[in-house]
Amino acid sequence: MTTQASGSPVSSFYNLSGPEVVFVTADIDWAPDYAVEFMLAKLEELHVPATVFATHRQRSLVDAGALVRVGLHPDPTRALAHTTATGMLQNLLDIYPEAVGLRCHRNFFGQNIAESAAAVGLRYDASHVSWQLPWAQAFVDQFGLVRFSYTWEDGLHCDFGLPLDSDVVDLETPGLKVLNIHPLLFFLNCVTDDDRRAAVRSYSDLTSAPYSELSQHVRHGWGIRDVTISLIERARRMNMRFAFLDDAADAALNVTEAL
Ligand SMILES: [Zn+2]
Repeated sequence: MTTQASGSPVSSFYNLSGPEVVFVTADIDWAPDYAVEFMLAKLEELHVPATVFATHRQRSLVDAGALVRVGLHPDPTRALAHTTATGMLQNLLDIYPEAVGLRCHRNFFGQNIAESAAAVGLRYDASHVSWQLPWAQAFVDQFGLVRFSYTWEDGLHCDFGLPLDSDVVDLETPGLKVLNIHPLLFFLNCVTDDDRRAAVRSYSDLTSAPYSELSQHVRHGWGIRDVTISLIERARRMNMRFAFLDDAADAALNVTEAL
């Protein structure tokens, strides 16, 4: 593989001739079903294909529609106390056998996980953040795994204290534009991560947090959900197309799916 951006098999995803393609991804982070369904319904309404990294069995992801590709979102900081990296990934693959990629919770990713991911047949990882970095590119590692970074995230946007304005998100420069959102932040429409923490503080198992309680924390003013939707609408106005990470990984690996 050449090191020249324009010669890379992934170059059609690099926005080299202006803004052309963007990826929407999401980390489930043990959000309750109704929060995930709320986010997926909104993305579907906007006709946005999304790569969704699952943490646990969820009806809406097991039976995901054509606009969703499911990847894995394991938490190595907990899982590796009980099993191997391969076991951790296989447990999620048993639920989502179609998954071809992963992003680790809190981006906790290392060589042992990369090696295990390749061994269980995954094609890519997206556990690295390159915050608003122009010229973000993919590469294939020594295990044959395609490595992506993501360039914007709803939670980090709040953590940086950036204006709640999608115009501050870079879509114009060359490079991969991989956006990442979280169903709970999206559902709650948070402004800061403290908003999320206040809402989830009393639950040891977030997956079963009742709607009647969590919905009381939903922000009705302008929040990060509005920024996300505004960002998607902006990309649409710029005539950017929305792609799955699977497709860019396949391009990097020159995989041709059997018809
Ligand atoms: Zn996570």
